[in-house]
Amino acid sequence: MSEHTNAFTMAQKQFDRVADLLGLDQQVREILRFPLREYHLRLPVQMDDGSIRVFQGYRVQHNDARGPAKGGIRFHPGETADTVRALAMWMTWKCAVADIPLGGGKGGIVVDPATLSMDEKERLCRAYVRSIWRNIGPRQDVPAPDVGTNAQMMGWMMDEYSTITGQYTPGVITGKPVGGGGSLGRREATGYGVIYTVRETMKHLKIDPTKTTAAIQGFGNVAQFAAEGFIKQLGGKVICVSYWDREDRASYTVCKDDGIDLDFLVSITDQYGSINKDQAVSAGYTIEAGDEWIAKEVDVLIPAALEGQVNGESVKKIHSRVKILAEGANGPTTPEADEVLKARGIFVIPDFLCNAGGVTTSYFEGVQNDMNFYWTKTEVLEKLDDKMTQAYASVYDMSKAQDVYMRDAAYMVAIDKVVKAMELRGWL
Ligand code: GLU
Repeated sequence: MSEHTNAFTMAQKQFDRVADLLGLDQQVREILRFPLREYHLRLPVQMDDGSIRVFQGYRVQHNDARGPAKGGIRFHPGETADTVRALAMWMTWKCAVADIPLGGGKGGIVVDPATLSMDEKERLCRAYVRSIWRNIGPRQDVPAPDVGTNAQMMGWMMDEYSTITGQYTPGVITGKPVGGGGSLGRREATGYGVIYTVRETMKHLKIDPTKTTAAIQGFGNVAQFAAEGFIKQLGGKVICVSYWDREDRASYTVCKDDGIDLDFLVSITDQYGSINKDQAVSAGYTIEAGDEWIAKEVDVLIPAALEGQVNGESVKKIHSRVKILAEGANGPTTPEADEVLKARGIFVIPDFLCNAGGVTTSYFEGVQNDMNFYWTKTEVLEKLDDKMTQAYASVYDMSKAQDVYMRDAAYMVAIDKVVKAMELRGWL
C-alpha cells in the first residue's frame, strides 16, 4: 500500500476531517488520534519439520473508555503495525456506532495461514495467547476472528487462556465454534449485517431490491453471507464475486450475468476463499481480471476484502448505474475516492456501520458466555437486525440533520459517544 493509502494515515485523516467539523478540543484529538496501548510480539513457533520460525505479532488497544477493547486478529502476510492501528481505531468507532459497551482493539500476525499445517496454526494461536494473555481478558480486551482466522482458531486461543489462568473463560474471545462457547448466528453476522444496512438504504432511496444486482469483492466469510443475504433476503442477483487465487497468486472476478449460484460457488471454494476456477468455467462462469468487479454495471457494489481497494484509480471505473457502495470490508475506500463518490452522489454505507454485525454478535456471544445461557439462532439474528437497524437510523438521521456525507455522520455519532464516555470517566 502506498503512503497515501497507508491505512493508519487514512483513518487519522477521516477522523481529523470530522474533528474539524465538530470543532473538537485539541486534547481530545491527542487521545483519539493514536492508540492508548500497543503490544509488539515476537512469537517463536516450532514447525512440523522441527525448525523454529519466529512470527511478528501485534495487539493494539485504541480506546477502552466505553468498555473492554474489542476486535479481531488477522493472519495476513501484509500486516503491519499501521494496518493494525487503523483497524483498532475503526473498531472504536464501530462499537460506538453499534451502541455496544465495548472499545476498539485489533490484533495481527504477519503470516499467510494457507502456508501452515493445522498443527502449526494451532501452535501459533497458542503462542500468541501465551505472549499476550496478561493484557487481554473479558474485562480488558476481547479478540475475535478476522481475515485469515476462523472459529477453530478462536477455540484454541480460548483454551490456551483458560489453561494458563486455570479458569474456564469463554468470554476472553468471541467467534468461537458453536458448542465450544460460540454463538449461533456469529458466522453469518457480518454478511447479514451488511445486507440489513443495504435493505434500509434501499427503503430510503425507494429502490425495489428484487430488481437489483450486485458485484462483490472477496469471497470469504463476509462476502459469502452478504451474497446469501442479497439473494435470499433481498431477492436481488449477485452477478460476480472476486477472489484471491492462491495457486496463481493473482485475483480474479468470477461472473455470471444471470446471477451466481451461491451454493455451487461455495462448494468449489476452499477455506481461504479461493475458488476452483476450472470448475467455475465448466459450469458456464466467465473469469475476468481481479479488479473488474468494480467496473460492473450493477446497482450495488460490496467491497468485502481488504482496505484501500476503492482508491483514486479504481473509483474512476465505477459504472454510472451504481447507486450504493456497501462497505463490508474495513477501510476499503480512501479519502481521495470518497471525494469522487460524494461528487457522483453514490450512497456510501460506511464500513464501521455497514460491517458492525460481526462485532455486535460477538457482543451477544460475550453476554451469553457471562450468563452461561445460550439463545436460539432466530433470537440472535432478530437482536442483530434490531441493533443494525437502530445504528443505521442514528447515522442516517445525523447525515440528514447535519447535511453531511454518511461517513462523516457515522464519525459524528461515534466520536460523540466516545468523548462522552471519556468525560464521564474523568479522562477529560
Ligand atoms: N473482525 C471483525 C470486525 O472487523 C469482528 C470483530 C469482533 O467480533 O470483535 O468487525
